[in-house]
Amino acid sequence: MAFEGLAERLQGTMQKIRGKGKVSESDVKEMMREVRLALLEADVNFKVVKEFVKKVSERSVGQEVMKSLTPGQQVIKVVKEELTELMGGEESRIGTSKRPPTVIMMVGLQGAGKTTTTGKLANLLRKKYNRKPLLVAADVYRPAAIKQLETLGKQLDMPVFSLGDQVSPVEIAKQAIQKAKDDHLDYVLIDTAGRLHIDETLMDELKQIKELSSPEEIFLVVDSMTGQDAVNVAESFNEQLGITGVVLTKLDGDTRGGAALSIRAVTGKPIKFVGMGEKLDALELFHPERMASRILGMGDVLTLIEKAQTNVDEAKAKELEQKMRTMSFTFDDFLDQLGQVRSMGPLDEILKMLPGANKMKGLSNVQVDEKQIGRVEAIIRSMTPAEKQQPEIINAGRRKRIARGSGTSIQEVNRLLKQFEDMKKMMKQMSAMQQKGKKKGGFP
Ligand code: GDP
Repeated sequence: MAFEGLAERLQGTMQKIRGKGKVSESDVKEMMREVRLALLEADVNFKVVKEFVKKVSERSVGQEVMKSLTPGQQVIKVVKEELTELMGGEESRIGTSKRPPTVIMMVGLQGAGKTTTTGKLANLLRKKYNRKPLLVAADVYRPAAIKQLETLGKQLDMPVFSLGDQVSPVEIAKQAIQKAKDDHLDYVLIDTAGRLHIDETLMDELKQIKELSSPEEIFLVVDSMTGQDAVNVAESFNEQLGITGVVLTKLDGDTRGGAALSIRAVTGKPIKFVGMGEKLDALELFHPERMASRILGMGDVLTLIEKAQTNVDEAKAKELEQKMRTMSFTFDDFLDQLGQVRSMGPLDEILKMLPGANKMKGLSNVQVDEKQIGRVEAIIRSMTPAEKQQPEIINAGRRKRIARGSGTSIQEVNRLLKQFEDMKKMMKQMSAMQQKGKKKGGFP
C-alpha cells in the first residue's frame, strides 16, 4: 500500500500530540523534526519538505492553536490542512471544450502506464459521466502500442482510431478529430508516443500535435514508483510542453508517496487522477483532502461510499452512507458490507479507507490472509439477531457460544468486537470532518 511508511510515522507523531492540553513551542519543534524526517524518508522533495515544515510550525505556534481548548488536535488539523494544500488544495476539474470534441493528449515516458491510463480514462468518462470517447493510437514508433490500444478498445467496446505506423502522428490526430466530429463523439483521447527518456524529437512531435489539436488538457502520466524521477519528468514535460495535469499511476503499489506529495509544489500542476491497479476500472479522481486524510489514518469514507455507489446497489450505498454518518452501523451492516465490498476491489485497499483501519490489526491483516475475512464472517453469522444489532449485550457467556459456533476462539471474537467498537468511534470522530469535505468537488 502506498504511503505505508509515511502514514505510520506521521500517525505515530500525531498520536503523541493529540491529547495534549498544552502545546509548547518545543513540543512543536520536536514534532516537526519527526514530520520532517518522515517526509524525507517518503522521498518528498527536500525543498517541499522545508517549506511544509515552516508553514506548519508557524501556524502551530500561532494564535489559532495556542488559544484553542484542544491544541493537540488543532495541530493535527493544521498538518492535515497543509498536507491537503500541498497536494493541490481544491479538487480540480477536467476541461470540456466549448466546441466538441474535447481533445485530451496523453503524454509520458514509456512504461509509465500511458496506454493503460488512456483506456481507463475513456472507461471512466463513459461509466461515470456518460461521455463518448474516441481512443486514438498515435504512438507510431511502437507498433505494439497501437495493438495494445486496439485491444483495450475491444475490451471496452469503444472505437479506436488508428492509421497504422506509416502515417505521422500529427496527421493521425487531425483525422481522428474529424472522425470524432463526424461520429458525434465528445472526447478524443490521443495516446502519444513514449520514450525511455525525454528527447528533443519527441518533444517537437508533441508540440506539433498540441499546435494542431488545441487540446483542452495535456495529461502527463507518471509512475509513482519512480519517486523523485517522476517529479523531474513532470517538471521537464511541463517546461517544454506545458501540461495541464498529472496522472499518477501505480499508487496501488508500495510507493513511498514522495511523488504524490511533491509534484504539485514543484510543477504547479495538479494531480488529476491516480491509477490504483492494472484493471480498466482502477482510475480514481484525485482528491487532495481525502488523500491527506488517508495518510493521517483518518480514513477515506467518501471514496469508500463512491466506490459503493459505482459498484453496489445504489439504495444500499445510500443506506450505508447514512449509517456511517449516524453511527447506527451494526454487525448486520458489517456482514452485508463484507460481501459487497469484495466487488469493489482488493480488500486491503478498501479496508484502509476506513477511519482508524490501520489500528485494527485484525482488519489490516486481511490483506495477507483472505481467509481471515471468512473467519470474521463466521463469527458474525454465529451471533443472534439481537447481538448483531446491539453488540454491547455480548457478555462472556455469549462470546464463548459465538466462538464455538463459528469454529474460532474467544480471543478472535474479542478482537472483532473491539475492532468494531474502535471503528465506530473513529467514524464518529471523522464524520464532522468528512461532512465538510463532501461539499467540494465535481467534474465536467
Ligand atoms: P506505457 O508504455 O506508458 O503506455 O505503459 P503501459 O500502459 O503499457 O503500462 C505499463 C505497465 O504498467 C503495464 O503492465 C500496466 O498494466 C501497468 N500499469 C499501468 N497503470 C498501473 C497502475 O495504476 N497500477 C498498476 N499496478 N499497474 C499499472
